[in-house]
Amino acid sequence: MRVPAALVLALALAAPLAAHAKHQAAPPAEAPKIHKVEKVAENVYCIFGQGGNIGLIVTTKHAVLIDDQFERLVPGLLEAVHTVTDKPIKYLINTHGHPDHVGGNVVLEKQVSAIIAHANVRKRMVLAQAKLDPAKQGGLPELALGSEDTKERARLNLHLDDAEIHLLHLGPGHTDGDVIVGIPSVLVMHMGDLFFLGMLPYIDVESGGSFDGLAAQISSVASWLPEGARIIPGHGPVCGRKELLRYRDFLQAVQAHVKANPAKDAAALAASFDRTAWPEWKPRADFVTWETLFSVASGKGPGRVARP
Ligand SMILES: [Zn+2]
Repeated sequence: MRVPAALVLALALAAPLAAHAKHQAAPPAEAPKIHKVEKVAENVYCIFGQGGNIGLIVTTKHAVLIDDQFERLVPGLLEAVHTVTDKPIKYLINTHGHPDHVGGNVVLEKQVSAIIAHANVRKRMVLAQAKLDPAKQGGLPELALGSEDTKERARLNLHLDDAEIHLLHLGPGHTDGDVIVGIPSVLVMHMGDLFFLGMLPYIDVESGGSFDGLAAQISSVASWLPEGARIIPGHGPVCGRKELLRYRDFLQAVQAHVKANPAKDAAALAASFDRTAWPEWKPRADFVTWETLFSVASGKGPGRVARP
């Protein structure tokens, strides 16, 4: 198709103007106002935003953050933190290595004394960052808990000012680098993505996760978690022991259904499972469906639908 000369001239004139207008119209770099802060217990908060739930612990002289969502959200996250405390953030703990939990590390490493995570989180982040532009690398955990042996349990107790914070790794679950963070003085736990509430759980097999490992961990925690404890799940609302016991029963029901029907594939397992008994866990067509859940529960799938 021939383009009329007048139009070519108009386009040529308009292009730099359009680019200039775009440049001028760039919004000011202000923090997105998406974060909400909920008090969970004395000096412990949950910050909701986009991605995994964030925990905030305030001690006599410091603050501790648990997870940090995405790099672009850090200014808004810090504003949310400052609505609670102006104390410096001493430690940043990562519950595991998924980008919606560690994306802010690259910014926050400039202001915290240390980022703490399981050894496998550091290992996987090093591998992932090797593919990145050097300018975008950074935010690696400096204090690594446990070893790369995926079955080895690990524990680390932090003593900061008047607070005691326990980090516990119980083996493969959501990934091979999950850490449960407990604050025993107020009976609060951040369980990272070992606990999804409101949507079906994701087991990231490609990152060393295991459905049976996850179910075993939840049963273990349910056996010792005291009445009155509060739980910050990786995704979903703050909850307690009642919801954890339901989650344990749900995971066990999925396991039992797989075991009772060895000849069925994931689609048939999903179709024959009594989903109405478990309304707290909903499928997402772009993430974890009933079929992908049964696929991973029978040891055959990656735990989620393929990324587009
Ligand atoms: Zn995750």
